[in-house]
Amino acid sequence: MTILQTTPLPSPQQPSDLLGDAVPILDQLDDPCVWLRAQGGDVECLITHSMRGAPAALLNSLPNLKLIANFGAGIDLIDVEAARRGQVAITASGDVLTHDVADMALWQILTLLRGNAHADAFVRAGDWTGGPLPLGRSARGRRIGILGFGRIGQAIALRAEAIGMIVGYHSRSAVLWSELRHEADPLALARWADVVVVALPGGAKTEAFVDAAFLDALGPEGMLVNIARGSVIDERALIAALRDRRLGAAALDVFRGEPALDPDLLEAPNLLLTPHIGSATRDARVAMLEHVVANVRAFRSGMPLAGRIL
Ligand code: NAP
Repeated sequence: MTILQTTPLPSPQQPSDLLGDAVPILDQLDDPCVWLRAQGGDVECLITHSMRGAPAALLNSLPNLKLIANFGAGIDLIDVEAARRGQVAITASGDVLTHDVADMALWQILTLLRGNAHADAFVRAGDWTGGPLPLGRSARGRRIGILGFGRIGQAIALRAEAIGMIVGYHSRSAVLWSELRHEADPLALARWADVVVVALPGGAKTEAFVDAAFLDALGPEGMLVNIARGSVIDERALIAALRDRRLGAAALDVFRGEPALDPDLLEAPNLLLTPHIGSATRDARVAMLEHVVANVRAFRSGMPLAGRIL
């Protein structure tokens, strides 16, 4: 069975190290088109990274593909309809990164509330002798609205409750077992919340879900955290809202067109930027790699797949 990998994975090892086979990496081939024309028909399994995905053009050149094993939770860059038409199974990382991403969101929330992103630099620069940092805000008693209440959203809710925040969420359907406040209207959630955390999937259905109207509903004291996908936020509206002080502060881990950034983001006030590191722990990345490799092995031996989405 021929396995193809789209791009190097951001993990301590590559699938070939664990599988013991040489796995060609498309983005490292001298001429990917020539390789695909010659060998694309042999490929049954495609390993990809959620930020590389599997566009229709690639899937069309792999007519005998049976499995896409995705490294990551998001499948927004995989052409799911093309995969469905070709009866290709898709697996994703499921729960193995959930808690590390939720930890990252908690750090973003607390850093925004405390306003202390620059505290270390402040001490090192000797600025402390000129007076203290401005005061921050307590987390306890503040309202957090979570957009998207799946694995990561629920893990964020657990953490937020543990530090005394009052939790509400928006998703298309209410989670029946949860007693937390479900808001069917995302704007109502934004009006209610002090902090909104975005934990929605990316893709066409959530494109610019957080737009100017949403940011205005969150308001000048409101804070926004995005650990989901850059596409979920209208970045130009966010930059304008921060500049005009119509939004209090924001923390972004993900961006449109990342790793390139809209240069205006760098100039926007009260904005905490991190380079898509929600799952960037050694533990999570090893577990994500093992998850991919376990699915390739399961596929080879006709066993059930884990974290199957399609
Ligand atoms: P998940 O378990 O599939 O949860 C998604 C949630 O969003 C569900 O509650 C779903 O509920 C809701 N939702 C989906 N579409 C919606 C829509 N159009 N409107 C309103 N709600 C909607 O996904 P997850 O594992 O929590 O991951 C969420 C996302 O986080 C991933 O897709 C990925 O893009 C991102 N992520 C980022 C990092 C990072 O490093 N920063 C790491 C991992 C994942 P309903 O279906 O009921 O609406």
